[in-house]
Amino acid sequence: MMLLVDLDGVLYRGRQPVPGVAAVLAERAAAGDLVLYCTNNSSRHRSEYVEQLAGLGAPVGPGSVFTSACATALALRAADPPLRVVMVFGAEGLARELRDVGLRTVPPTARGLAAGPDAVVVGIDRRLTYQRLTVAMQAVRAGARFVATNRDPVFPTADGLAPGAGAVVAALETAAQRPPDLVVGKPSPILFEQAARSVGREPQEAIVIGDGALTDIAAANRIGARSVLMLTGVTSRADAEALPPDGRPTLVAADAAELRRALAQLATGPSGGRTP
Ligand SMILES: [Mg+2]
Repeated sequence: MMLLVDLDGVLYRGRQPVPGVAAVLAERAAAGDLVLYCTNNSSRHRSEYVEQLAGLGAPVGPGSVFTSACATALALRAADPPLRVVMVFGAEGLARELRDVGLRTVPPTARGLAAGPDAVVVGIDRRLTYQRLTVAMQAVRAGARFVATNRDPVFPTADGLAPGAGAVVAALETAAQRPPDLVVGKPSPILFEQAARSVGREPQEAIVIGDGALTDIAAANRIGARSVLMLTGVTSRADAEALPPDGRPTLVAADAAELRRALAQLATGPSGGRTP
């Protein structure tokens, strides 16, 4: 099977690993499953995740991590007309992904604005200030394309929920008085499509494992893939039970032991033996 696995709220919450999940994925990889990671988190460069996941004991290689930051970079590289200068209203990892595809990046500062950015890319921004928001707003109002890496309202940390990129996007959307021109992360299928195609598979063959009903599971349903909703992150059992029929996952797992059983069940299910 090809497993497309979310990170925050599935493998860890902040710096705290979710017990046993990395080991379940390692067992699946040893049994021949292909394990790829797809995260809406836009703050870090892919290479940083490879190290972190390996440290957790999860099966990972240099080509197995897909983030909304690298997906945004790939989408913008193909922009027509080509972009000259991109203002990054987000973290350094996002700026690095954009530079990796040859884009020139500027920060959301007065100097950045003076460079005449033709796009503003928004991700989670832990350096968020009124000043940075003001400059980003001015760039969008001056005609720059407004690109959101994702709209996650919150993400789980070891100490509870924290505001996600969606909170920053909403602030800019309100101030600029227009919605983003492009939203890249889940529930858009872009990340899953890039991950599946990178290994020559079709996205609908995937089993999606995620903690976000409105992101991971919505994106899985959109591409026709089966899914396991983990209750280890942002979605509670009550939330899961209240989902409408077209928003439900294939299976729900409360912890690593239930995930192991769910994957075993999907592997022997009617389409579990699907081959490339
Ligand atoms: Mg998550």
